[in-house]
Amino acid sequence: MYNKNAWEKYDEKELEKLMSFNDDYIDFLSNFKTEREITNFSVEILENNGFKNLDSVKELKAGDKVYAINREKNVMAFVIGKEDVLNGINILGAHIDSPRLDLKQNPLYESNEFAYLNTHYYGGIVKYQWVARPLAIHGVVIKKSGEKIIVNIGEDDNDPVFCITDLLPHLSADKNQKSANTVIAGEDLDLTIGSIPSKNDEKEKVLANIKSILVEKYNIEEEDFVSAELEIVPAGKAKSLGLDRSMVLGYGHDDRVCAYTSLKAILDLDETPNRTSCCILVDKEEVGSIGATGAHSKFFEYILGKLIMKAKGEFNDLMLMELITNSYMLSSDVSAGYDPLYASVFEKTNSSFLGHGLTFNKYTGARGKSGCNDANPEFIAKIRKVLDDNNVYYQTAELGRVDQGGGGTIAYILANKNMNVIDAGIPVMSMHAPSEAVSKADVYEAYLGYIAFLKYIA
Ligand code: MN
Ligand code: MN
Repeated sequence: MYNKNAWEKYDEKELEKLMSFNDDYIDFLSNFKTEREITNFSVEILENNGFKNLDSVKELKAGDKVYAINREKNVMAFVIGKEDVLNGINILGAHIDSPRLDLKQNPLYESNEFAYLNTHYYGGIVKYQWVARPLAIHGVVIKKSGEKIIVNIGEDDNDPVFCITDLLPHLSADKNQKSANTVIAGEDLDLTIGSIPSKNDEKEKVLANIKSILVEKYNIEEEDFVSAELEIVPAGKAKSLGLDRSMVLGYGHDDRVCAYTSLKAILDLDETPNRTSCCILVDKEEVGSIGATGAHSKFFEYILGKLIMKAKGEFNDLMLMELITNSYMLSSDVSAGYDPLYASVFEKTNSSFLGHGLTFNKYTGARGKSGCNDANPEFIAKIRKVLDDNNVYYQTAELGRVDQGGGGTIAYILANKNMNVIDAGIPVMSMHAPSEAVSKADVYEAYLGYIAFLKYIA
């Protein structure tokens, strides 16, 4: 159903399913906040559902379920279909990194009897939103021995939290003259982590005390920060939003909401699909999809190569190109939800509305569609038919008014490999803020739409 409010469709039983699906999503959002945490969660849930590591399988046949991971930050999962894989596969692709603050490599310092951690922001954050709120530290520290220390401080009820302080309004005459963009400087996003001085005869006494806590409690020496990946994220759980509980408020819907629904779609396929189904979760989308774990990585072709070898008993480059060229993909990424409080930046007839279902962006980009993947109408027509046949609610949108801004996703990267790709995700309000909002109806419609796509697009 095109561009209608999805809440009208649910009977009592369906509403119960929708709410229960979202309760599970809220748990996921509360518990897994970084690309590594989501990768590890994905492996666990895939294995619990009968998926095997691709490397442990010699041959692939219809109905087999396999997965592959890359450096604890990418996941690819497959359900092998009845058709030859060279006929193409149906892919759901989402990203599992979210805007945040990363620790610098040499982060510890003391100033006027406070200890701090120096940060460098990751992705497009609105800096003033990150001050004066409880923050948590998630990530890993790798010792020279190779030992991995997993860090997660600020989420348990008994954990301390951290914060970046803000200026009181009584003293902000100078600050109030600044623009929203400069009011908090990137270099000033430093995390307060302590204030008790050490009793020993040392120079920076508060820092000395913090360093001894790091060693005693966490086995982390100061130099170990050099080989660490520690991410500062909003502390606390996601929650239902609104008296009617129609929405979810939480950190990192972009793009964990599409990652979760895509992963659930492939897990919940009820029969062997005709075409092979695939779900791919990538890192680094918020900084341009570069690097070994971003969507540009050769990991994608590498795993597809193994898939062909194990399904066909042979491999060559032409086979890989054939598979890719014949494949269809939904770039499952969030869309900007229409916000009545900021109506002037949207063009209402081509905006996505919370509650109107899965949102398709034929193109993203900026100015004259610069940098966009412009999906083929032949492909979009196939999708319309499948969604209507399966009573999935969906809508189409642009990212705001022409020339107001712009953005991109991983769509163009896979399209460049010669694949049919379109952006298909969930509208978000307050995108990239520490607390973003989505509609529970859209989470559910996306999940239903993704299943229909995997099963029926051909
Ligand atoms: Mn995104
Ligand atoms: Mn984003």
